Amino acid sequence: MGKVYLIGAGPGDPELLTLKAARLLAQADIVLHDALVSREVLANISSRAEVIDVGKRYGKKLLTQEEINALLVTYAASRETVVRLKGGDPSIFGRAAEELEALRNAKVEFEVVPGVTAALAAAAASGISLTDRRVASQVLLTTFSRGPNASVMDWGCLTPATTLALYMPGLEYAEVAHRLADAGLPADLPCVIVSGASGAQQQVRWSSVGALASEEKLPAPALMIVGRVASQQIGEISDSFWRGEASGTALEQQKASVS
Ligand code: SAH
Repeated sequence: MGKVYLIGAGPGDPELLTLKAARLLAQADIVLHDALVSREVLANISSRAEVIDVGKRYGKKLLTQEEINALLVTYAASRETVVRLKGGDPSIFGRAAEELEALRNAKVEFEVVPGVTAALAAAAASGISLTDRRVASQVLLTTFSRGPNASVMDWGCLTPATTLALYMPGLEYAEVAHRLADAGLPADLPCVIVSGASGAQQQVRWSSVGALASEEKLPAPALMIVGRVASQQIGEISDSFWRGEASGTALEQQKASVS
């Protein structure tokens, strides 16, 4: 029986791979990777390894998560070093839980190798700090629910001192802006959009909750950082928000339910 390594490939720049990830890529017998993993990172894979892009369409159909889980278990029976390579960190919006469960159930030995998640690369790209002892005491790695309950946001711990790192924001910036405003965030709250963080095509766009709707769309993958830290200058934001006076907002309801 072989071992399966769930490895974080980082945000794109191959120099952001951990030494452990690079060593395992060079030793791998087989690598199953997502579409998000950069070509430069894939170049670190041993030339004798079999490489499968599980994010690519085979004929018409994309592999389902169940099929990927089954492949990992099957390959572990015949290969010594099986690598499951995911963009960023496997445990952040990477469906690692489902794969780990399948491996546990099948009694396959596994190890998780963490990677640099996109929020960290986006902060680095824009030269900001996600926490700031003056204005930001917590970071929320989050995304939108696009299911049938799309209007219900689980942003329970949103406070004026929260930095939001919004994964998979999509191209409907107006919708994003609307949701942020609905959550009680003021129009002058800064926001930065980072596309292709750490890669050659990296772009950084400074905006605000109020201006977001009319921003030019940046290519995927892109991430938004929203909060007082998301600015080149930490400035004054609407007083009413910071005193918690905005009424009827999610923030206000949250405060009411806590007190
Ligand atoms: N496991 C990954 C996230 C997978 S979800 C991680 O830890 O980073 C995919 C989302 O990640 C994209 O929609 C985008 O929001 C974000 N993302 C991934 N790579 C990125 C990059 N290089 N720059 C900006 N955003 C990125």
